[in-house]
Amino acid sequence: MKLPPLEYACPGSLSEAVALLASRAGEARPIAGGQSLMPMLAFRIVAPSLLVDLRKLPELREIKISAEGVRLGAMVRWRDIEDDERLATAHPLLKAAVEHVAHYQIRNRGTVGGSIAHADPAAEMPGIAVTCDAEIAVTGSKGARTVRAADFFLGALTTALEHDELITDIRLPAWPAKRRWGFLEFSRRRGDFAMAAAALFYDQDAAGKAINAHVGIIGLGDRPRRLPEVEAVINGRVIDEATIERAAEVTSATVDAQEDIHASAAYRRSLAGTMVERALRSAAA
Ligand SMILES: Cc1cc2nc3c(=O)[nH]c(=O)nc-3n(C[C@H](O)[C@H](O)[C@H](O)COP(=O)(O)OP(=O)(O)OC[C@H]3O[C@@H](n4cnc5c(N)ncnc54)[C@H](O)[C@@H]3O)c2cc1C
Repeated sequence: MKLPPLEYACPGSLSEAVALLASRAGEARPIAGGQSLMPMLAFRIVAPSLLVDLRKLPELREIKISAEGVRLGAMVRWRDIEDDERLATAHPLLKAAVEHVAHYQIRNRGTVGGSIAHADPAAEMPGIAVTCDAEIAVTGSKGARTVRAADFFLGALTTALEHDELITDIRLPAWPAKRRWGFLEFSRRRGDFAMAAAALFYDQDAAGKAINAHVGIIGLGDRPRRLPEVEAVINGRVIDEATIERAAEVTSATVDAQEDIHASAAYRRSLAGTMVERALRSAAA
């Protein structure tokens, strides 16, 4: 299908981009890598009158690593994360998750900001943002603000972004060197969206017991979520087989799962438990 008729602009500054978005009262859309937006245009799922291309905004392409954590500019591509060796220690969970995003050609264009704004419940990056307590920095005609990832995703393909707001960067808190982590994903084919994925980490106290557990689940329900009931199983315990099995049981019992063309809700609940079990075993090892 051909795209609907639309106008195109390629601004050279963030303020110009915001002004263009604001000028159309919800009828303009930013375009980043186009990997989700172009199919949505072709299928007439969205029909904006203006596309605002973000490719000439170099300040959105930076990966900054500091004592405060990792800042990913909205136009950072999956490929940039794969290629950045610093992230292997600065954020190994992010790096592991991104390996599961789509196929080579899509990773070469698709961006972090596009994925966060698109808010697919089965996409890896929104899940990492929620699991890691990321903050999403946005800017619009009323100024800049940050939104906690947990408050940003309101449902499938729905976020807290206003029509004239752009994501500028995603801020992941600092990653301690000794942190234990695991990422496990199941999809029908390599590169497909997750049918279920678990992203988790915990730190350890002096006695080797887990503290600060964060367990996120991707691909079930209408948005990525943390599982506080499973985190409660992990916190304060040595991660042995009994804890791992209990965490898996509690995952399957508490996740929000829906049936779709790929699987029944019961299958997804069971799969989520298996993902948490294997991710936790990998973290403990
Ligand atoms: C075949 C296929 C398989 C895929 N598999 C996966 C997968 O396994 N996992 C996965 O996570 N993703 C997958 N994707 C999606 C891919 O990762 C894209 O990168 C992602 O969907 C959006 O990034 P983009 O830069 O292409 O955004 P675009 O398509 O350009 O934009 C997507 C949406 O975000 C908005 N937007 C873009 N940038 C901003 C910004 N800075 N501020 C505000 N709004 C913005 C756009 O207006 C649009 O609504 C797949 C895509 C395809 C085509």
